[in-house]
Amino acid sequence: MADQKTDTTPRLRAALDGVPTYRPGRPANAGEGGPVGYKLSSNENPHPPLPGVLESAVAAASSFNRYPDMACTELFEELSRRFDVPVAHLATGTGSVGVAQQLLQATAGPGDEVIYAWRSFEAYPIITQISGATSVKVPLTTGEEHDLDAMAAAITDRTRLIFVCNPNNPTGASIRRAELERFLDRVPAEVLVVLDEAYREFVRDEEVPDGIELYRDRPNVCVLRTFSKAYGLAGLRVGFAVAHEPVAAALRKTAVPFGVSQIAQNAAVASLRSEAALLERVDGLVAERTRVQAELAAQGWTVPDSQANFVWLRLGERTVEFGEAADRAGVVLRPFPGEGLRVTIGEREANDIFLKAARAPAPTCAFTSGPTLPRRSLQGAP
Ligand SMILES: *Cc1c(COP(=O)(O)O)cnc(C)c1O
Repeated sequence: MADQKTDTTPRLRAALDGVPTYRPGRPANAGEGGPVGYKLSSNENPHPPLPGVLESAVAAASSFNRYPDMACTELFEELSRRFDVPVAHLATGTGSVGVAQQLLQATAGPGDEVIYAWRSFEAYPIITQISGATSVKVPLTTGEEHDLDAMAAAITDRTRLIFVCNPNNPTGASIRRAELERFLDRVPAEVLVVLDEAYREFVRDEEVPDGIELYRDRPNVCVLRTFSKAYGLAGLRVGFAVAHEPVAAALRKTAVPFGVSQIAQNAAVASLRSEAALLERVDGLVAERTRVQAELAAQGWTVPDSQANFVWLRLGERTVEFGEAADRAGVVLRPFPGEGLRVTIGEREANDIFLKAARAPAPTCAFTSGPTLPRRSLQGAP
């Protein structure tokens, strides 16, 4: 009875029930009659593409009737040279979130466990749940840092993958070398540790290790990097992993065929070749970060030291109200209701608008702390 109507829907995997949808940072609210809006909600690079990078992307656009180079040959060669790693240890994907999802496909399924700090990058619970594996969320310390002892203690026979986000999104706090090495030494060789270093280029603290140095003699470490943040290619979707051969090979198997467009590949290659100019821009953003953090401290805020391109305000119950006040002032921030606000370091004018809003928090908000609020960040908050 082909035409019999039923009110049932196609059967979908139960693992999808209750998967939170990824919430992108809201765009700037320009054109709503209010002040010019700035988007400080997605940790993007505020600078438009560099001329050479834009030209190479545009040139690639003229042949988009063809599939891209599936092997990403030129990009792999450039990455291999730049990071001094064999091509066989590289894998690309549609953003580093794409690569993270491939890592889960390659390692975990129903009955398995995936450990990560919380709060951390909001893609982790989503992609873990979709894989069918179980999330084991280990609360951050009161200093907004990874609790690596608790994460090591959470490892069981079922653990397949551990995300370590360094610096951590959204708190900006980073893990130092000795602490991370001690943790890696405690993780069994059959458990994959993914060092998510989306913000590596913004790190200035020399004690924060470069994951690519740590992976070299550790076959169970995989480093994730992206062109979306410092390199300014968020809209092109290209990220990569550095890992020993079995893991890198598994990433090639789980990749969406032709997922990384030729435009993205060419722009990434051109970015690596224009690295000096790009990193000069990053230096400018780091200088702005220093200025914003100093000004917040002068205003009486206590914020975790950020080594990324954002700062974190643990506002608890005041989060939404502060976000709305910032909106009205002309900057769109990233609220995590009941917890805090993440503020991307943007153009100087945008940062100034945010700092002005931070100086005058809405007087009507009662500052009540939730049970998980760390005391340290509350103390100095106005
Ligand atoms: C932004 C971000 C990414 C990168 O996302 P893409 O998919 O490469 O755009 C990965 N991890 C963290 C922690 C991030 O904040």
